[in-house]
Amino acid sequence: MAAAAQSARAAVKYQTFIGGRWVDAADGATFESEDPFSGEKWALVPRCGAADADHAVEAAYAAFVSGAWPALTASARGQMLYHLGDLVLEQAEMLAEIEVRDNGKLMTEMLAQTRYLGQWFRYFGGLADKIEGSVIPIDKPDMLNFTRREPLGVVAAIVPWNSPLLLMAWKIAPALAAGNTVVVKPSEFTSCSTLEFARIVERSGLPPGVFNVLTGFGTEVGEPMVTHPKVAKVAFTGGDASGRRVYQSAAAHLKPVVMELGGKSPNIVFDDCVLDNAVNGAIGGIFAASGQTCIAGSRLLVQDTMHDEFVERLVKAAGAAKLGNPRLETTQVGPITTRPQHKKVLDYISIGKNEGAKVALGGTVADVEGSNSGLFILPSIFTGVSNHMRIAQEEIFGPVLGIISFHDEEEAVAIANETNYGLAAGIWTGSIRRAVSVSARLRAGTVWVNTYRAVSYMSPFGGYKNSGFGRENGRHSIDEYLQTKSVWINAALGVPNPFSIR
Ligand code: NAD
Repeated sequence: MAAAAQSARAAVKYQTFIGGRWVDAADGATFESEDPFSGEKWALVPRCGAADADHAVEAAYAAFVSGAWPALTASARGQMLYHLGDLVLEQAEMLAEIEVRDNGKLMTEMLAQTRYLGQWFRYFGGLADKIEGSVIPIDKPDMLNFTRREPLGVVAAIVPWNSPLLLMAWKIAPALAAGNTVVVKPSEFTSCSTLEFARIVERSGLPPGVFNVLTGFGTEVGEPMVTHPKVAKVAFTGGDASGRRVYQSAAAHLKPVVMELGGKSPNIVFDDCVLDNAVNGAIGGIFAASGQTCIAGSRLLVQDTMHDEFVERLVKAAGAAKLGNPRLETTQVGPITTRPQHKKVLDYISIGKNEGAKVALGGTVADVEGSNSGLFILPSIFTGVSNHMRIAQEEIFGPVLGIISFHDEEEAVAIANETNYGLAAGIWTGSIRRAVSVSARLRAGTVWVNTYRAVSYMSPFGGYKNSGFGRENGRHSIDEYLQTKSVWINAALGVPNPFSIR
């Protein structure tokens, strides 16, 4: 049965995907999804609760312990994921359209993401039959000791609204390749692309129960999922507050977690950089995706020797950015995705003004032709920011840049590291010595030199400090979803003294 059917109100009515079937929430509740550009409530989505969480985790557990999935060879499992990657690529346009309708990000950005998505399933599908244990040269005669790398069980994947499918793939591709089953909880603001993805999973032939979706709200369905006794691991991407709560819930039930949290990333411009590139890098770092990205370069550190010239160029370039319908190729800045987020960004703009920072650009909402949502905010730049201000320390997650002046390398590194976060950082310089030295000294999980916002399925991604722990992407991220068993085989004819440890 198809996931979506047209209702009389012309809103698309979705069901969710549990145990290989399309179902409503157990109590029939639904909630609406809003298009952040038009303001149209375009979809109705099941509002799942504790009963649905139990249903989904039990289905995932059953698929983990018996049936077709555990019977597959690692190669066959990998081929299924490879095939899924191919199908995802075929549907990239459709998936991007749904993402844009749900989260209002630019079609060019979402299309780039959905066209890239299949690579996660191919890469980790390729790794599935390269998971190897080892034979230990054990120090006991007549014993063979070897290790097996085994899946954990049911993985609960919790995803935010800014890049729903990409961030889901970062979790489920390695988890499935390792032989686990998954239950995905998308953000309540962007559930629909995950449900469309589930249709592709259904077509791909993945056995029922291997991939399940729970749509709904964090406390209503996310929490019962996290605390369910049959969930073996939680993979979370989201903000600090919910991250802490999920971590506490998981800890109370002794569940391991991977945490991908927020950031306040420094983008550092030295006066030996190529100026035009650095201006572009600063703009891309904060105004791409309307600043709604965990890796946003929201603190721009500019060397004092070129501060004024750089700010002038930056303000001119950012001021020319075209706000508009995210579906148009000419649009460069789209709406804020959610109403609470829109309010939060405006609150931070007021905080910045009250803290004494100077608005060099924007600082207000924007009226955009054709949009009825009221969710646009102008690209905004504060100058005269000092690193202790709240706008320099707290994640805003919107198109708001704070510029901090520094004198030399030493001061730049000190300011950059003076934050509770440590997700990413950028360096703009013409000096190889400086690139090597500063990148080594920055306390961040990713450092870009003369580029920004580059990610790949091949390269580890994750946070230092309060930006989280555990790594996604890269071949070792599959280890997050494996456990090691040590097997001992006695080859001696008899068992010596049974009262003594061997
Ligand atoms: P959020 O924390 O509000 O929500 C994230 C997800 O957690 C949603 O699916 C939500 O429903 C769920 N959730 C909330 N409370 C829960 C609970 N008690 N139990 C279980 N699930 C719960 O985040 P958001 O507003 O959707 O996304 C923005 C945040 O995500 C930003 O802080 C951003 O930095 C962060 N983010 C981090 C990365 C990264 O890789 N480090 C990537 C993208 C976004």
